[in-house]
Amino acid sequence: MTIAHATLPSAVESAFARLERYLTPFERREGQMEMAARWTETLDRGGTLAVEAPTGIGKSLGYLLPALLHRSRGSGPILVSTHTKALQDQLIRRDLPLAIKATSLPLRAMVLMGRGSYLCRRRAQARLAQRRLFAAEGGPSGILDSGAMERLEEWIERTRTGVLDELPGLGIATPGTLLSEIASDPFVCAGSGCDPAGGCFAKAARRDARRADIVIVNHALLLSDPGLRGTLLAESGALILDEAHHLERVAREQRGVSLGVSDLTRLAARTDAKTGALRLLNRAIRRGSRGVAAATAVAEADRALKPVLTSAAEVAHDLEALLPPGISSILWPRGVDLARVSPRAVDECLTAIGVLTRALTAALDSVEEGERAALRPGSVSEDALDEGRGRLARWVEVDQALRSVLRYEDRDVATYVDRDERGSARLNRRPLEVGLVLRDSIFALSERTLLTSATLTPSTEIAPAHAALGLDPDDVESLRLPSPFPLERQMATLAMDGLEPNDPGFSRSLASLVGAIATTLRKNTLVLLTSYQMLDEVAARLRPALDAAGIPLLAQSPGEAAGPLASSFRAGSGAVLLGTASFWEGVDFPGEALEVLVIARLPFAVPTDPVVAARSERMVEEGVDPFRELMLPEALLRFRQGVGRLIRTSTDRGAVVVVDPRIARAWYGERFAAALPSPPRVVRSADEAVSLLVRWFA
Ligand code: SF4
Repeated sequence: MTIAHATLPSAVESAFARLERYLTPFERREGQMEMAARWTETLDRGGTLAVEAPTGIGKSLGYLLPALLHRSRGSGPILVSTHTKALQDQLIRRDLPLAIKATSLPLRAMVLMGRGSYLCRRRAQARLAQRRLFAAEGGPSGILDSGAMERLEEWIERTRTGVLDELPGLGIATPGTLLSEIASDPFVCAGSGCDPAGGCFAKAARRDARRADIVIVNHALLLSDPGLRGTLLAESGALILDEAHHLERVAREQRGVSLGVSDLTRLAARTDAKTGALRLLNRAIRRGSRGVAAATAVAEADRALKPVLTSAAEVAHDLEALLPPGISSILWPRGVDLARVSPRAVDECLTAIGVLTRALTAALDSVEEGERAALRPGSVSEDALDEGRGRLARWVEVDQALRSVLRYEDRDVATYVDRDERGSARLNRRPLEVGLVLRDSIFALSERTLLTSATLTPSTEIAPAHAALGLDPDDVESLRLPSPFPLERQMATLAMDGLEPNDPGFSRSLASLVGAIATTLRKNTLVLLTSYQMLDEVAARLRPALDAAGIPLLAQSPGEAAGPLASSFRAGSGAVLLGTASFWEGVDFPGEALEVLVIARLPFAVPTDPVVAARSERMVEEGVDPFRELMLPEALLRFRQGVGRLIRTSTDRGAVVVVDPRIARAWYGERFAAALPSPPRVVRSADEAVSLLVRWFA
């Protein structure tokens, strides 16, 4: 009997046997087999399964093999959604080829990205031609030197995928502004009227996805694209949500709105007559009498931009009053009326956007009037019209977004003010609950669903996590797999019983502890912090001692991505890395790349975080304790993720040192301690900690 004709459980069994026979060093793991068996049952009869599968289980193969074999029995295609690109790369490059080989079936897998990730050749050709023209006229073209421009043009001509992510790998560093001008954009798409030489990459990718056996997307695309949900998800044979613990937050982001001066300035630059769509329209208009009215309308639209930016800057200025110095974000204060905060500017901004959208509409109408008599014939004019319509659609969206953010009395959302990248006050809106959205737009469309992650729940209580996602806990089967590694033998656990994180001397004592550990042990040490303020203080205190000892210190800056720092840390020997949010999960430091993990403080969300504050307020109104039901579970989940950085393989050894004494003193401390493989040894001084660590590593 071939693998395709066996029952699903026995086919899965045979596929794992093949992997064992033909692939060294593959070996089955108990947890992986249990996960595969339970997922196979779910695929057979339908339903929803949630599996927490710690590092080392081999969860990807645990879900891929049963899913591929289910597909080979005539189900719809398999849809896998991840949060990170790193996991997508791992699946498409490593795990899927292995799984497909193990099934010996001709299955086809692909990654489908959002439209903006693909080249629009039509826009690109028009854009580059215009840039050359502007340059010849002495205008602003020069965001790429001529060599880079040539390489970009060559890539545009010969790429077979149109995936813009390929460019950095080819050494073509393309600024974001240029990328946004050459990317596929639904607002600037000629649709069926387009016949780009070589085809449309975005459409081709969608078509390919409809023919593939397994399609990988990310959560943001899955949640933001109704077309994808109506086709690929609705027709899928199974949905696998990996890194599922991110789903709730991504849904909140996708359903939210942020609107600041920087957003409007960027959009204005893409619209105006200097560098934007109106410049393209101006170029496309005929000289002479037939183009006069259109040129006047374009100039009118261009003039309408300035009042929008002026009033938006005034709104931002008025909102500053809500953000005292040193405060980065604040929930819209109860009882504070917008009319008092910004008595004039908000109305003016709305009026100015209204004037602008009407002026843009009039300009486009004027250009198109009389069978486009005002336009020069040819594709440049078509392209200019597409871009103009695209910008108009964006301004209409801005108008709607601004009106939605201004409904700050809505109890189901958090409306808050923070700062954009230029430091101007910005308005934001986020829904408090997304369970219903997830239920209706995702879970209701899938008959066989797997949610999985290395850390899916804060503790053993799995039901609240399901409820937040809109799932009825009674309808979800859950499986929590233990780590396949003997963690209690691989990991030493220490808890410092010293100063509390809010004590003014905490940073100094943390720096001296880390300095003593690093200079004595000379092992790669990762310090996980929860704020840049503390990170900077610790870095400043630590640097002289580490410099003197020749130990590299890597300190994350605000907004700095984890990837490059993580690579430097892996390459270093005895290095110290100070990291915040992005280092608590998703970074992999196997073996000697990380041997000492210092957790500076228990990772509770800042209570002033506007979304946390709004959710807490709502819970208090409902008689629910937000600390127990929101802050503590989220901190436990984060803590488990942080600890999970240390042991990545069966041969790793390392120590975790929790510096926050609440783990030893607070009533909830034991819940954090229970997330460690063995009860932490409580120590009272840096010397004691260092001597215990020296003995452990001896
Ligand atoms: S169909 Fe739209 S996205 Fe595709 S190449 Fe044409 S204009 Fe670009």
